[in-house]
Amino acid sequence: MRVLITGGAGFIGSYLAEAYLKKGDEVYIIDDLSTGSLENIKSFQNNPHFKDRLFVFTDSIFNHDLMLELTGTCDAVFHLAAAVGVRYILDNPLESIKINIQGTEKVLELCAKFKKKVLIASSSEVYGKHLHAPLVETDNIIYGPSDKFRWSYAASKLMDEFTALAYFRTKGLKVIIARLFNTVGPRQSGAYGMVIPRLTEQALKNEPLTVYGDGTQSRTFTFVEDVVKALIALMENDAAAGEVFNIGGTEEISIFNLAEKIIKHTGSSSEVVLIPYEKAFEKDFEDMLRRVPGIEKIKKFIDFDPETDLDTILRHVIAYYREKLTSSSLI
Ligand code: UDP
Repeated sequence: MRVLITGGAGFIGSYLAEAYLKKGDEVYIIDDLSTGSLENIKSFQNNPHFKDRLFVFTDSIFNHDLMLELTGTCDAVFHLAAAVGVRYILDNPLESIKINIQGTEKVLELCAKFKKKVLIASSSEVYGKHLHAPLVETDNIIYGPSDKFRWSYAASKLMDEFTALAYFRTKGLKVIIARLFNTVGPRQSGAYGMVIPRLTEQALKNEPLTVYGDGTQSRTFTFVEDVVKALIALMENDAAAGEVFNIGGTEEISIFNLAEKIIKHTGSSSEVVLIPYEKAFEKDFEDMLRRVPGIEKIKKFIDFDPETDLDTILRHVIAYYREKLTSSSLI
């Protein structure tokens, strides 16, 4: 099979590319490297078994001619190219909306033209500010006002979902929507706000761990390799077309407890400091206080078991950052 991965040099995209290469498939990556990095694919790019089956295009999905050629060539498309991270979205509001809305529309239009099955990466952000758990695909959504820019990301991803479902309904396009919940693992950058790489790097440098707010907000983290298994299984499942799925772990933890766990795992001498939201972000920032996925639906379609627990995830991430920091001789 030939697989096109937009955003294939990103954190999740690179693991997805590697998994397909290991399966013996051909992989086409298009990535403008705005938040992705060739560093992410370096470890497998030169593998002699993969070399002839991996094609990397450092370009934008707005390059129509290239996307036309790639979509026409491939059998299935994973659309992962998007703005990522709360920090990135707040710093690049217009660019984020443009890539998420116009970019996804472009990909859907081409997939419909060539009748190619497509998986759209959505986000748990789509649910907005709920306090209940678990969040299920049929839940209502609650956003803040439009001057609180965090919600632009949620709204743009929701618009992607509507557009994808409209293509399914009106053109019969086989489209799958995956709402990803805090996917984590080695290669994830802390530069765009993500908490685990940020706190891990701080702990390894024996710097204070910056927990925003009072630290009682919680998340469930999912190991990237578990997520990738689910994405591949959904793509292979005919009944999944036209459906929306949560993909996420079930182990809920507060960010304060996460910080303490990271200190323990790294053996760091760091302390946790609480940073008020208005210092970390602009003054009208709103956090999502809780985010736990219901995974009953996806389990009915595929064999989904987010088996990697948080301690194991942290061990992998810490080992990755330890090596990275040692090789750049920062510690
Ligand atoms: N967070 C934090 N310190 C940081 C980065 C993030 O306390 O240095 C918090 C953030 O406010 C949120 C949680 O960690 O409550 C998860 O943040 P992340 O950006 O990783 O993901 P998202 O907010 O999209 O779930």
